[in-house]
Formats: sequence, structure tokens, C-alpha cells
Amino acid sequence: MRYTVFMNTFSEIIGQDIILSHLQNALRTGGVSHAYILNGAKGSGRHMIARSFSAALLCGSPRQEGDRIEPCGECLSCIQAEAGSNPDLITLEREKESSIGVNDIRKMRADVMIKPYSAAHKIYIIPDAEKMTPAAQNALLKTLEEPPSYAVILLLADGTSAFLPTIMSRCVTLPLRPVPEKAVEDCLKERFGADEYRARLCARFSGGSIGRAALLLENENFAALREKTIDILRKIDKTDAAQIASFVKEAAAEEETGDLIDLILTWNRDLMVCRSTHGTENLIFTDEVQYIIEAAQTVSWQGLQAASEAVFRARRRLFSNVNAELTLQMMLLEIRAAYRTQDRGQ
Ligand SMILES: [Zn+2]
Repeated sequence: MRYTVFMNTFSEIIGQDIILSHLQNALRTGGVSHAYILNGAKGSGRHMIARSFSAALLCGSPRQEGDRIEPCGECLSCIQAEAGSNPDLITLEREKESSIGVNDIRKMRADVMIKPYSAAHKIYIIPDAEKMTPAAQNALLKTLEEPPSYAVILLLADGTSAFLPTIMSRCVTLPLRPVPEKAVEDCLKERFGADEYRARLCARFSGGSIGRAALLLENENFAALREKTIDILRKIDKTDAAQIASFVKEAAAEEETGDLIDLILTWNRDLMVCRSTHGTENLIFTDEVQYIIEAAQTVSWQGLQAASEAVFRARRRLFSNVNAELTLQMMLLEIRAAYRTQDRGQ
């Protein structure tokens, strides 16, 4: 593990250069806005960015590191920020898990009027801000329209479609970007000690989110599903319908159909890559190389294409809430037929 004890630093954030340069510029010039929307999926690093920016704003003696301004990590404010007990850094608490109601925001509004305890700023972090009801948003709007000079509000959101236009127009929106797969992979190796194979596979499935990749890495269900899926795909041409049915029953019951679909697509993609490039360097399932080389030589190109079409069809059907078990069974039967179309004399 490479983690330093103090976690609220910009140096820990990977792949969000545009946002970081915007926030660094604000720190450097003092041109801090009263409200930001950090827009990105769960696990994309919104909390990390919010914590680092807050710590730097509240820090008694920020450090210059290269061209970056970092919180010092040693002053009382930094130590309190790290411990979650800085009185000038408040995370909104809500009554209901499902939504942020007008009462939650009213409590916050009353608190905003109280001056900061010791810093020049008082920062509010609102997690799941997209869950604010319209009434809550209207209550927040009053603060956004006439904020006290010291107030900074950080809205962490997964999508902005639920926000009223009036809220959007008062906030600086900072969209988080998916992190390139290679950077996710390197991060899993360097920070989490993942081996090459698992780093590559989890990075592939992360959708560019380091948080999701880290979860997958530690998720035993995912590891088990991966093994079971490889197992059935390796011998699919000899598998009977009953074996397929029992495999699917298990996978569908665990509500892992999305991961299952992705695993099968990735497997098929590896066969296609191996077949078309005659190389193995870009494979994801690097611990199955020998088998993939052999399989890629026997299954026809049309078969591989038919298999990936079968998976895409299944994915579309699953989105429209059809019977998942039946859909996955049919998909695997189609893949079996596709993988049986072998090349002869080519
Ligand atoms: Zn400090």
C-alpha cells in the first residue's frame, strides 16, 4: 500500500486534470465560487476531490508542491478535516435515505448563517445532491442567491437532470471523466497491490471508475462469477442444456447479470483479438492465454461475430425487463451454436 497517512491531497486523484486545474486555479487566485456541482458516477472520485479541495481551502498553511497547492496535512484544521471533525467542514445529513427534503436543507440554511469557527471559509458537502426534492432545491436556491461571503457549497451528484435550471445557473458544474483503463489498471497495481491479471480485468470492468475497480478487486462474488463463467465458456461446445440452465440459475439469482454479460463479451473479445492479430499482448484474460490461442484458431470468425451479437441481443432484452434466466439461457445456447461453427482448412 502506498497510501500516506494523510489522504486529503490532490496528488491522490487520478485522471481528472481539467477539474483539478480549475480548482487549483481557484485556490491560487482566491476566486472560489459559492457553489460547485461535482458530477460523476458513484466511485468516480467526487468525495476525494471535495475533501481535498475543502482541506486546502481551510488549511492554515497550504503547501506548494510543484505547480499544485496542497493542504499541509499537519495543522489543526487539516487533522480535523481528516478525522471528519472540522467544524467548518459540514457534510449534510438527511432524514430519509431516499431523498433530500426541504427540512434537511432548512437546517443547513440556518447553519450557513453562523460564521466560520476559525477558517475564512465554511464548506458544506451535499452527497447524493440529485436526490434533492424540488422543494429542497428551492430552499437551497435562497442560499445560492445570497450566500454569505465565506460559504462554499459542494453538491456531489450522479447526473444533473434532476436539478432545476435555477440551481444549475448558480453553480459551477465540474463533470468527472471516466479514467482511461490503463490508468485504472496501474492504480490497482500500485495502490492495491493487484497482480497484472486481476488489475487488467477489474480495470476493464470499471467503466473508468477507480472506486468501482477497487470494489471489484475486493469483491469475492465477482471473483467467483469470473471463475464460473470462464469454466463454462471453456467447455461450452460440450455443455448440455441442463448444465447451462443450472449455471444461469445461479448467476441470475445473484443479480450479477450485468457482470456476467460483460465477462462473456470480454471473453469473446479476447478470442476475436487473438484471432485477428495473432498476438496475445492485448488480451484481458491473460491467465487463459494458452486456451484462448487454441480456441481462437478453431472457432470461425463468423462464429465469434454471431456470439457477440447474441450477447448484445441479450443485453438489450435484459434492459427491457424480460425474464433474465430465460434470456441468458438462450444467449448461451446461441453462443454454443456459434462456437461450434469451426473453420475447416483455413
Ligand atoms: Zn493544514
